[in-house]
Amino acid sequence: MALAKIDPIYCDYNATAPLRPQSKDAMVMAMEIGANPSSVHRLGRSARSCLEEAREIVASAIGACREDLTFTSGGTEANAAILNGVRLQEPLLMPIVCGFEHDAVLAQLPDAISAQVTSDGQIDLVWLEDLLKNWPHEGRSPFLSLMLANNETGVIQPVEAAANLIHAADGLIHCDAVQGLGKMPVSVLDGELDYVTLSGHKVGGPAGIGAFYIRAGAPFKATLLGGGQEMGLRSGTQNLIGAAGFGAAVDAALNEEAKLVTLASKRDNMEARLKSVANVTVFGENVPRLPNTSCVSVEGLRAETQVMAMDLEGVAVSSGSACSSGKVKQSHVLASMGVPDELALGAIRFSFGWATIDEDFERASDAWIRAAQRKGVISNTLNKENA
Ligand code: PLP
Repeated sequence: MALAKIDPIYCDYNATAPLRPQSKDAMVMAMEIGANPSSVHRLGRSARSCLEEAREIVASAIGACREDLTFTSGGTEANAAILNGVRLQEPLLMPIVCGFEHDAVLAQLPDAISAQVTSDGQIDLVWLEDLLKNWPHEGRSPFLSLMLANNETGVIQPVEAAANLIHAADGLIHCDAVQGLGKMPVSVLDGELDYVTLSGHKVGGPAGIGAFYIRAGAPFKATLLGGGQEMGLRSGTQNLIGAAGFGAAVDAALNEEAKLVTLASKRDNMEARLKSVANVTVFGENVPRLPNTSCVSVEGLRAETQVMAMDLEGVAVSSGSACSSGKVKQSHVLASMGVPDELALGAIRFSFGWATIDEDFERASDAWIRAAQRKGVISNTLNKENA
């Protein structure tokens, strides 16, 4: 007898969210324009108005003006443009960064002061306040890069409070809001952020499009030079199709408040269920987290084993650790929180989103429980019940 085909379920939205139908439709329309937004003829003007419409949507989603938003090829480029462009203009800035930031930030700031991180995965504001009060870098202003929400744990950072501290010390703040957009309110007005990074594919738009916001008057020097597009801040012919898809995805995401509440409550139920059957740690559970993310671990169950076992059952999740050159590397995010290696090596991330349905949570946790049972990390009572 042939086995019934099971629909795969996708629990990896923080890696890339599936393309939203609204985004696909907007991209098809933009493709049909087939012109360069810098051209002055009618088709060029039509491409320009499509681009500016998308810019307006993305900018207003973060409480910004259209003129302050620049499109890029993604979050990585936006982070690099800001972190290098600000320091090119103001070489005396002294960067501060937390170990849990995305590599796209860490790689740009090898000389930064490493900020203290709490065991819940947030920047330690008491430490920051103290550092700024006793600032050891005479003549150099602080430049903090602090993400809005972490891609692995979903932990939300106290960005507004950090911005207030940094501004009081005459410094500047950049916020990588790639994971926050569409999953929580994002506003440049919270603490008057100086720079913000965004990306299209985490919100249900296409990959290969992103943006940066610069507060009017904040220091910046363009690093990608050429034809002077994007008001000279980022040269290169704009990715009109990507921008249209990004705008449509953001527009759709802004109407999903009720969905986010449901995701949070289903996620909480799923975590409670996993904890009831095994000695599961939920990273960041004591502080505010994105509603869609759950990063869990249990000692004795390696992340690769769980990811593969769940994949065989059609459940797509990510491991918190990264595999490179055949070796499993501990997650730098969990390391920054002081999580011991044995626990960190078992960390997997479930992340849900716009197309998730209620039963996905049950199927994902069923698959995890079966994998854990096979490895003998499930509590004895449950094993007896299932014997
Ligand atoms: N910043 C964060 C927090 C991310 O999660 C990611 C993607 O994983 C990036 C930046 C990079 O964005 P992109 O994939 O658009 O280059």
